[in-house]
Amino acid sequence: MARYKESTCRLCRREGAKLYLKGDRCYSEKCGFARKGYPPGMHGQKKQKVSEYGMQLREKQKARRIYGVLEAQFRRYFKEADRRRGVTGELLLQILESRLDNVIYRLGFARSRIEARQLVRHGHFMVNGRKVDVPSYLTRPGDEIAVRENSRSQPVFKEMAAWGTTQEALPWLEVDREQMKGRFVRFPTREELDVPITEHLIVELYSR
Ligand code: SF4
Repeated sequence: MARYKESTCRLCRREGAKLYLKGDRCYSEKCGFARKGYPPGMHGQKKQKVSEYGMQLREKQKARRIYGVLEAQFRRYFKEADRRRGVTGELLLQILESRLDNVIYRLGFARSRIEARQLVRHGHFMVNGRKVDVPSYLTRPGDEIAVRENSRSQPVFKEMAAWGTTQEALPWLEVDREQMKGRFVRFPTREELDVPITEHLIVELYSR
């Protein structure tokens, strides 16, 4: 599977927004975007006119980068959102939000989606009592997500238990920190999501 190997902070600079890809560091003064808030590269500080297509493309890239999804998979999510009944942009975000790595991050069992992805791949989580090690697994309303019994004593989860208490409770999720488990209760509404994405631009891009 293709991997992005350059600096993660470069992605935030490219998209002109903090994408919160590195956990604690994103909230500190070490944040790359806070230090250099202009696009990377030789011409990064020059003012450039952006076309309508350019804006749509950037919005799609930003969404892909926030959720850590490759192009082909993102397009599949869009097709699925387009097939469902409702507002396509909102449905696309709901599909992205239901990915297992994202749900684990939202529950506070990881400090970033990147970390959540790694923890899932290492087999630390169960969904409805069965081990799942696929970060793109799409959870459904009612699904229970739990840290596996054998993993609970690991230092990373002890740290996470403390860190998770600093996280705001989200209305579409239930979390039990003591038992290290949570539930994906329902899909979030657009108003509940804090992601800086203008989803209608993505819909326009794929509808060209
Ligand atoms: Fe983006 Fe986080 Fe890097 Fe800041 S520290 S530039 S928010 S990834």
